[in-house]
Amino acid sequence: MATQKDFDNQIKPNWCPGCGDYAVLNALRRAVSDQGVEPHNLAVVSGIGCSGRFSGYMYAYGFHSVHGRALPVAQGIKLANRDVTVVACGGDGDGYAIGMGHTIHAIRRNIDMTYIVMDNHIYGLTKGQVSPRSDLGFKTKTSPSGSIETPVSVLSMALAAGATFIAQGFSRDLEQMTALIEQGIQHNGFSLINIFSPCVTFNQVNTYEWFSEHLTRVDSLGGYDPGSRAAAMETIMTHDGLVTGLLYQDTSSVSYQQRLQEYAKEPLALADLELSQSEFDRLIAGFY
Ligand code: SF4
Repeated sequence: MATQKDFDNQIKPNWCPGCGDYAVLNALRRAVSDQGVEPHNLAVVSGIGCSGRFSGYMYAYGFHSVHGRALPVAQGIKLANRDVTVVACGGDGDGYAIGMGHTIHAIRRNIDMTYIVMDNHIYGLTKGQVSPRSDLGFKTKTSPSGSIETPVSVLSMALAAGATFIAQGFSRDLEQMTALIEQGIQHNGFSLINIFSPCVTFNQVNTYEWFSEHLTRVDSLGGYDPGSRAAAMETIMTHDGLVTGLLYQDTSSVSYQQRLQEYAKEPLALADLELSQSEFDRLIAGFY
């Protein structure tokens, strides 16, 4: 069985010292190892941004896609080869700005895969611009007088879009992150895991200390029921989205693949797709 170390490809991340993404990478390696996933059965797909480098730091199949497009690639991989555990990774700029259309439709489509978003409330790779998750009044190079746009409320948006699994973590809490990623991998459907992962270089407001002071764990709220959509929405709204843990899971979730009646019995990746000469000629003839 593969250990956490087996998912380390020995490429040293070039993230800034202290970046929250290091801990998320460790949590993902631990989670896949704990779940008995083998490197040859794991595909990690990432978008663009500092967290977009994720796919290059895992010993597994990797695909570094273009900006905001990790989810289309990841969903395609899962549909073509259902035996592969698929994890998409990116940042809040990648997934909730240019990639938001894909995020919402991936949520409601419910293909069995996991999406980890490293949410640092800023664009780090391009050196500090306002992101869709930046707070009102947040000063950056592109908002010198403070952001005048309301940040997107990702968790309530995901609930409204029909999510079957929503969790939120914090990169200072390795145990919780690992457990949430494991639950996401086990979930039968699309699992969204938003992780607060501080950008220590360009965001001097939403720091480790800031998140530690403002976050509440749902398991500290007596009797919290992650099976209740209404309770999840109320908790998210009451705490302004600053809650961590498993927020919502539909344990009777039916995945896209299960609903797709035409879904081939054999994974597309293993099928013999070679065309005979006569089939090829017939296809070509259709263009004349
Ligand atoms: Fe991490 Fe920010 Fe550095 Fe990017 S710029 S590696 S997000 S600390």
